[in-house]
Amino acid sequence: MLRGFSLYLLPFTYQLMNATTILSIILGIIVLSQLFDWTLSWLNLRAHGKNVPPELEGQIDADKYARSYDYHHVNFRFGMLQSLLSFVVMLPLLAFGWLGWLDELLRNVTEQPVLLALMFFGVLFVVSDLTSLPFSWYHTFVIEEKFGFNKTTPKIFWLDKLKGYLLTIVVGGGVLSFLLWLVITLGPSFWWWFWLFIGGFILLVNLFYTSWILPLFNKLTPLEDGHLRSAIEDYAKGVDFPLTNIMVLDGSKRSAKANAFFSGIGKQKKVVLYDTLIEQQSEQELVAVLAHEVGHYKKKHILQGLILSLIQTGLMLFILSRLLFSPALSEALGAELSSIHLNLLAFGLLYSPISTVLGILMNIVSRKNEFEADRYAADTYASSPLQTALLQLHTENLSNATPHPLYVFVNYSHPPLVQRLRALQKR
Ligand SMILES: [Zn+2]
Repeated sequence: MLRGFSLYLLPFTYQLMNATTILSIILGIIVLSQLFDWTLSWLNLRAHGKNVPPELEGQIDADKYARSYDYHHVNFRFGMLQSLLSFVVMLPLLAFGWLGWLDELLRNVTEQPVLLALMFFGVLFVVSDLTSLPFSWYHTFVIEEKFGFNKTTPKIFWLDKLKGYLLTIVVGGGVLSFLLWLVITLGPSFWWWFWLFIGGFILLVNLFYTSWILPLFNKLTPLEDGHLRSAIEDYAKGVDFPLTNIMVLDGSKRSAKANAFFSGIGKQKKVVLYDTLIEQQSEQELVAVLAHEVGHYKKKHILQGLILSLIQTGLMLFILSRLLFSPALSEALGAELSSIHLNLLAFGLLYSPISTVLGILMNIVSRKNEFEADRYAADTYASSPLQTALLQLHTENLSNATPHPLYVFVNYSHPPLVQRLRALQKR
């Protein structure tokens, strides 16, 4: 029996729809969002021409461009196959109520609501992870290998998997247990307690990501004294941005793709440069990339992102609190008894269009911020090394130089290369 939980079901009046209607809506969402994704990917693939676009003529090597074309075609076919398979599995799973059947099966083991929910999500996690395993293996050791990106060994691959599992069990399991406990103890008012908790959690992860989580997977070493370090420090001093933590990440352990990022706030802030980036770019270009990152700080984008994600989480939890206690949700997934975990899952499916829309809004903000950070780097350092750095990063990573505008609108957190270069040249 779901003691605490069923108490909240009785007086609950949000029973807006019956189970059949909810199931139809869920199936409709899955079919439509899949069609939407496929259409966007297809449009985006077609937008990638075979020849270097006129705007980048002379700036991108034709061979590299042809490789990028191949890379996108291979990845498109691979992505289609993977999503088609998961689509083919998802539909009957929901339509025939197999999740309800799984719930019933697990009730033979325990009826304790928290344990039951942990087992339920645990089974789903393991099954979905095992089915995606061959795909991620193929992607790393065949596709990325073929295009010269892969540096991962099977040993690193399996160790990553293992660490990922442990992290999911400890962190994911812990957070989920806490949520369930709150739901059972507090009923619908769980949402703002959990919001408080998850807010603190997000803040903590933001502060200590490079100290606690990253070292599990990578080695971080302080950038050694020398020309590059003093160039970075000189720039940082010039814009009144004291910077002591400049770290190098051994990204080359897994992939030849390069990157750089900032992490943490206040005293905890660190700039992390991939060793692959240091290898590929000149000192001036590296300082320009760093100036862009400093721009994100100075323009308060990090803080803005944090606040926006807190608001989003609060909104989601509030809606969740209004729907979570509706027994029709479990019923829609094929269960006879209502349970928190089935309701949670049904909610997740129903909420996905809202989260897509919010994701699009976040991307709009993020793209605007990228332009601002670019401008900041150009104003406080220089425009041309940033342009060559972007071009270089883009070409080496075989990114799509001419993505479809609709694909960009929905999926891109950064503006496409051509737009960024144009904005930098306009000044
Ligand atoms: Zn940026």
